[in-house]
Amino acid sequence: MTNQDNPRAINELGKDDQIVIGGAGGFIAGALTRYFHEQGFTRIRAIDKKPLPEWYQRVPRVECLSMDLSDEDTCKRACEDAVEVYNLAADMGGMGFIERFRIECLRSILINTHMIEAAYRAGAQRYFFSSSACAYNVELQKVPTARALKESDAYPAMAERGYGWEKLMSEMFCQEYWAERGMKTAIARFHNVYGPWGTWDGGREKAPAAICRKVIEAKDKGAGDIVIWGDGTQTRSFMYIDDCVAGIDMIMHCDKLIATPINLGSSELIAINELVSIAEEIGGIQLERKHDLEAPQGVAGRNSDNTFIQEMLGWEPSTSFREGLKPTYAWIEKQYKDRKAGKRTVS
Ligand code: NAD
Repeated sequence: MTNQDNPRAINELGKDDQIVIGGAGGFIAGALTRYFHEQGFTRIRAIDKKPLPEWYQRVPRVECLSMDLSDEDTCKRACEDAVEVYNLAADMGGMGFIERFRIECLRSILINTHMIEAAYRAGAQRYFFSSSACAYNVELQKVPTARALKESDAYPAMAERGYGWEKLMSEMFCQEYWAERGMKTAIARFHNVYGPWGTWDGGREKAPAAICRKVIEAKDKGAGDIVIWGDGTQTRSFMYIDDCVAGIDMIMHCDKLIATPINLGSSELIAINELVSIAEEIGGIQLERKHDLEAPQGVAGRNSDNTFIQEMLGWEPSTSFREGLKPTYAWIEKQYKDRKAGKRTVS
């Protein structure tokens, strides 16, 4: 990346400028909070509706507030003095959650609706929204070999029921706040994100964490088998958390991308059966596979077309799945053992 393209050079965000991060008690926003803190930003306000002891990560010397961002007045308080606002708060989870709780997913529209208005009223310079690959037309994802999704594939629209439509509608808010009111907004469509400090149990976890946990559990209990949702031929791409936070920073600070939805995901396509093999390899075990064909599976195939992000940033998420799953597996194993020993764990 040349100096001219360096996001910080464009933005010149001061180290003492107020940054607001919604959803910071969760996985990605927690990692983003740590990332900005490590870059030397001194005024970070991290917000989540979860009580503070339940936050996945608490970064020292960061203002942490437990507040419900679906409430308008709360959003005004949250955005006071904000120079940049990152909205990653949402009621979400893996397929097991978003296929079952569509109303909760749709209700996340309240969060973005109030946060973006509060950010605008507070005079924020930039606003980030975490959209999702679930905003894409499901008709284009019916076979495991479906071609990778490019940004224009969201329209004509037929997003994932509930969760996907909320993302698409909130994207539109971001586009109109730029078009009508001139606030710089950034919209990244995340494809599955995984890594340490992510949800790994409890019903909201996504495939990589769920499979790691099942392998660890089978090993621990000497079970010998593993239940896989679907026939395992479903394909996805998975982005390592470090790539995700670096991508958020670059997208947010790239003026060529204002109000323009962009894929933020890996383009390495992995079948669920392959994911299981990699997790087994890391765990040093081979299990008998039992396929639950009634379980939620989502679309048959989804990958990220990274032509546009390459064109805009000369960059794309590049951590290989095999490389990223190792620390993820080790972290989940530690959580598993800690829980067994009666210690407090994440999720
Ligand atoms: P997460 O569940 O770990 O974090 C989301 C956080 O938002 C949670 O801690 C939750 O308590 C909080 N939250 C929910 N409602 C809130 C409210 N009303 N007020 C304040 N906080 C509230 O999920 P994540 O994986 O970190 O996802 C972050 C964002 O990225 C979400 O918008 C999600 O839709 C999006 N996304 C994630 C993925 C992924 O693979 N993890 C993929 C696509 C998009």
